[in-house]
Amino acid sequence: PVEGNKLIQKAEAIAKEFELRPEQVRKAVVEFRRLMDLGLQKDKQAMTMIPTYVTSVPKGTEKGVYLAVDLGGTNFRVCSVTLEGNSSFTIQQSKAAIPKELMTGDSTALFSFMAAQVGEFVQTHHSEHFLENKEHQLQLGFTFSFPVDQKAINKGYLLRWTKGFDIKDAVGKDVCELLQTQLDILGLPVRVAALVNDTVGTLMARSYTSPGTHGALMGAIFGTGTNGAYVEKLSKITKMTEPGSDFGKYDTSTGEMVVNTEWGSFDNAMKVLPDTPYDRELDKNSVNPGIQMFEKRVSGMFLGEILRHALLAMKRDVSLFSTAHIREDAELNTPWSIDTSVLSHIEGDESPYLSKTKLTVSEQLGVQNISTEEARAIKLIVHAIGKRSARLAAVPIAAVVLSTGKLSPKSATSAPSSLAASAAENIKQGAKAIKAVVTGEPPKADFPPGGSATTEEPIDIGVDGSVVEFYPGFDGYLREALREVEEVGTFGEKRIRIGIAKDGSGVGAALIALVASKVL
Ligand code: ADP
Repeated sequence: PVEGNKLIQKAEAIAKEFELRPEQVRKAVVEFRRLMDLGLQKDKQAMTMIPTYVTSVPKGTEKGVYLAVDLGGTNFRVCSVTLEGNSSFTIQQSKAAIPKELMTGDSTALFSFMAAQVGEFVQTHHSEHFLENKEHQLQLGFTFSFPVDQKAINKGYLLRWTKGFDIKDAVGKDVCELLQTQLDILGLPVRVAALVNDTVGTLMARSYTSPGTHGALMGAIFGTGTNGAYVEKLSKITKMTEPGSDFGKYDTSTGEMVVNTEWGSFDNAMKVLPDTPYDRELDKNSVNPGIQMFEKRVSGMFLGEILRHALLAMKRDVSLFSTAHIREDAELNTPWSIDTSVLSHIEGDESPYLSKTKLTVSEQLGVQNISTEEARAIKLIVHAIGKRSARLAAVPIAAVVLSTGKLSPKSATSAPSSLAASAAENIKQGAKAIKAVVTGEPPKADFPPGGSATTEEPIDIGVDGSVVEFYPGFDGYLREALREVEEVGTFGEKRIRIGIAKDGSGVGAALIALVASKVL
């Protein structure tokens, strides 16, 4: 057996490679703000900063049924929101895993799968729309969590795939039209009314539920991928307003628009992001080398694969697992097969002999009979990968909070964002009703600590995704990094309130479909 010390020393050395020092966080925030500005000014920048055409919200008095579908990274969800007309509503939903072969097939295969799911859902839950009124159309909000060049509230051309999808013939096409075509082939009374990024849905949903504020500033996803959207002043989105820009028509009355940052591709140029041999190995073997470099260090699709490369290096260099039994089809030897929940389980293992880690490694990595020393070494590396992800997650949050001036004393007392404010006022009750119906339990508490500890208005951020929700200590490491950014500091960090907007994308999409169907 390999001497324990050697294993631990090597694991510590690898963990050190994943360290993100405070000055690296600060430098990354500066670079993030620079790329935000570039993306707001010009088209086709590294960080796309996509205008979403979402500038207003429903009043809460509407009645009707709105559909939402969500093509995330892993699942396809269909839901309907029934508005009762008194700011309350109910939600029904279904969920199907996206078959792996559809992620790299052709666009017809994927979009006809989606249309079939919608058809099944409508037949089951809304057969009245078939039976009673053949003319009646259901308005659908399409949450599509990939970078698109959006030209109207329901028109968006796919720029590129992420998160393991690679359907070449869909690139450059209007994804709303691709879905509408398949819905029409099935003869469904459904109209794709709005194209919604999941981050925007999360932002809207958080705005509704956010207690005691004038609405959320930002929605952020840390799930299969990572991305965020925030409320920006129209006057700062100069690429939309300058003469000759080919952006479509939009409502300017609120003076604001939600911008989808596409921050997964932050620093593809690798000026400030940390880089280890394991990151490089992952990138080299990914479907999109050199792209989505921030996402590849932060989100659920990648953390397991980073761990796998680090463990293979341990195996090669210090004979990790030399006395263990490695299953023939072990995940350890299979690219992209280690789920990020594995890291969560190991990170959360507080048992003295790391029995949970041993079990997880046996069941999820295919390596049996590891020693306690080996489990310790693995846990050190897991911790370093997870902590780096959480600290990196603080970068966009700090950058958006700073660049929107929300921490300046003036904005604490200034008029609230009209967009977010009316959402918060009008739909708060409805959102509570939704939570109750969907989960049967009261809304989740916000992450401790932070938020209400100051008398200033909290800056509210809605988050969603399994990584931020389930990785033990994620919020703590994120907040620690926020405090390290001088302009945020302890005081600013306390004002930032981060809350889970679980499945907010569905609710948000339905509400944006409502807004869109009134506007058009
Ligand atoms: P999506 O982003 O596809 O809508 P999720 O938010 O559930 O869905 O994210 C799925 C991603 O989260 C996967 O990459 C998976 O590896 C990761 N994941 C699942 N469970 C956990 C967990 N308990 N802890 C951390 N990551 C998880």
